[in-house]
Amino acid sequence: MSAQTNLQKDILVMNMDKQLEEISLEMFGKEAANLTDEETYYVVLILVKRLMTASNTNQGEKKIYYISAEFLIGKLLMNNITNLGIYDFLEGVLASKGKNLAALEEIEPEPSLGNGGLGRLAACFMDSIATLGLPGEGIGLNYHFGLFKQAFKDRLQVAQKNEWIEKNSWLTKTGISFDVYFGERKVTSRLYDIDVVGYDNGVNKLRLFDLESVDESLVKEGILFDKEQIDKNLTLFLYPDDSDEAGNLLRIYQQYFMVSNGAQLILREMKEKKYDLRKLYEHTVIQINDTHPTLIIPELIRILVEDKAFTMDEAIEVVSKTCAYTNHTILAEALEKWPLRYLEEVVPQLVPIIKELDSRIKARYDDPAVQIIDRDDRVHMAHIDIHYGFSVNGVAAIHTEILKNTELNAFYRLYPQKFNNKTNGITFRRWLLCCNRELTALIQKNIGPGFKKNAMELERLLVYRDDEALLDQLAEIKRKKKQELAAYIREHEGEEINPESIFDIQIKRLHEYKRQQMNALYIIHKYLEIKRGKKPRTPITFLFGAKAAPAYVIAQDIIHLLLVLQEIVNHDPQVKDHMKVVMVQNYNVSYAERLIPACDISEQISLASKEASGTGNMKFMLNGAITLGTADGANVEIHDLVGDDNIYIFGENAQKVIEHYKKADYVSKDYYDKSPVIREAVDFIMGKEALAVGHRENLERLQHELLSKDWFMTLLDFEDYIAAKERAFEDYENQEKWRRMMLTNIAKAGFFSSDRTIAEYNQDIWKL
Ligand SMILES: *Cc1c(COP(=O)(O)O)cnc(C)c1O
Repeated sequence: MSAQTNLQKDILVMNMDKQLEEISLEMFGKEAANLTDEETYYVVLILVKRLMTASNTNQGEKKIYYISAEFLIGKLLMNNITNLGIYDFLEGVLASKGKNLAALEEIEPEPSLGNGGLGRLAACFMDSIATLGLPGEGIGLNYHFGLFKQAFKDRLQVAQKNEWIEKNSWLTKTGISFDVYFGERKVTSRLYDIDVVGYDNGVNKLRLFDLESVDESLVKEGILFDKEQIDKNLTLFLYPDDSDEAGNLLRIYQQYFMVSNGAQLILREMKEKKYDLRKLYEHTVIQINDTHPTLIIPELIRILVEDKAFTMDEAIEVVSKTCAYTNHTILAEALEKWPLRYLEEVVPQLVPIIKELDSRIKARYDDPAVQIIDRDDRVHMAHIDIHYGFSVNGVAAIHTEILKNTELNAFYRLYPQKFNNKTNGITFRRWLLCCNRELTALIQKNIGPGFKKNAMELERLLVYRDDEALLDQLAEIKRKKKQELAAYIREHEGEEINPESIFDIQIKRLHEYKRQQMNALYIIHKYLEIKRGKKPRTPITFLFGAKAAPAYVIAQDIIHLLLVLQEIVNHDPQVKDHMKVVMVQNYNVSYAERLIPACDISEQISLASKEASGTGNMKFMLNGAITLGTADGANVEIHDLVGDDNIYIFGENAQKVIEHYKKADYVSKDYYDKSPVIREAVDFIMGKEALAVGHRENLERLQHELLSKDWFMTLLDFEDYIAAKERAFEDYENQEKWRRMMLTNIAKAGFFSSDRTIAEYNQDIWKL
């Protein structure tokens, strides 16, 4: 199934010039050389779509359906032409018409179909499933405005609708449409496909369901809309505000809309291929990405019993052998528990099934910890997945251990054989080959191109640990990427940063457990130190990117503090040449692709036990940044791979943190009272400099939170964090040592290729 047999595609590639001219004429009535950049982008889009259509589809007797509420796929042009293996060729053809391929990338809008790591993981997995030639499809929703677009006004986050769907896009409208029932209410869906091309391999599909009757005009101000009109709003936004009941109901409507369509699509294919439904699990495996798609389990059981004459026992057995669940979090508030009355209102047809599933568990086990419907009549979605799926996996070694020993221990004791670990990964096509072509070329020059297919070959770089010429080239690439980022930030944020400074970067969703607030406290500390005359030898630039959920008040306050610090630090004549702070607007995949190659220090500072894996940490490592992090998630595995000398680990360990929670013995105020360093930083939040540029309400609420609760134990780790960070800055002064650390991190990053992750999923769970 490799490229050699892709005859149709090859013919199209050979005729690329002719194709380009034909499409130019069809679309714009001009020769390609006379097109604007924008027009050229659309011509190339159509050309590449044709190439993908002409490529082979990955096929087989059994298919993986990866069902997920999010697919944070990023822009697709560069990725697709890289995977098709036509980057250089296309670049040449375009150059002959006076066009610059890189300029076209700016024109593509970024699809807004995900929120953060979970959605990005799904996107990396789609790339690797196709690259490994496995038959697979992603199933999700086609959100018109997706996650909101972020802007800053008055140093506060403002959420705007993110329009990304254009007349010509990577979406292809299909003839497939299903009826979906919410009790008596019927809506109709429409399926759109996005082709996912593997690296030097066949094509799979991402299948995104839309509402046929969706009405964009429902959105009035910002991201506000009528949450009751589900026949018009279902696919407008990802995760609408769930701070009220209508928002919560809408989430359930979306989830059921996704799984009802997914189930119909899967059964349609079973029928088309004339497979025996009683052997569903021999042809289909459904990987449930977090709990959002959980309702596919009762939905499939309902269909098999009501329409296909299965007994309840038979339906449960077949479905349980088909579904596997991935857990992404131990945060209690993120584990979905829906009040039964919500389900009764939205999907009454599923309630008898869920009650049946629950009563079977109640008959077997007394332990309240493993029940599906609890005493308060709340339905625990993860519990459905664990009882009625055949596999439960965590996403990093430490995370899976915590699931087994703590959070899901009651389940682990019932089903030890279901539990397994699949440490997350990232696709190296996007996070190295596309975003850092210079580094890719340098690696290839030294160890050949084999690492592009087998990421473990990066280890061969280790023999160059003391090769000064190569280490200098590595540093030169880092400098170039920092210059490019500085230019981009000047243009897009209006901030001037020094490319010769240390780039210390924290980019990820805004959440208290990720502890952007701890980094903010460090910035205050550093600022005051510089004011006292203790200047860093090399200036430092602190960069942030993060969106905060619109209903998450403290997260908005943390953004406010960061923007207040940006204002104070960057305008202080005593300080601004020694440090700068920039929080970029609307952090997304495209911004990540610019920030990560330019990074020196990768901030991965979650409270130990709370970050299930992280994948940003892997992207940074691959691009030669050094991790400054806690012993959490995949940081632990990065540490194991690179050793103590090539990472900065600090803070309380997961076991101790879990004990603090159990004993409820962490009192943040005690840390504040004991330490002048902590006191000075926390007091600054409400000091006169901050209040002069910030809002008292936001700053006061944040300071109060830190002193009265600090649920994620910022002050516990703060002083250790300062010490680790100072060590990192000091080591940076020893450039010989630092460059060797960079090289070691790149060389050891191969394990984090999502090709490895997907090969493990296939071997242990999917068995395609
Ligand atoms: C990788 C990625 C994430 C996940 O980052 P973490 O640091 O693992 O939380 C979130 N958003 C975007 C845009 C990403 O590319």
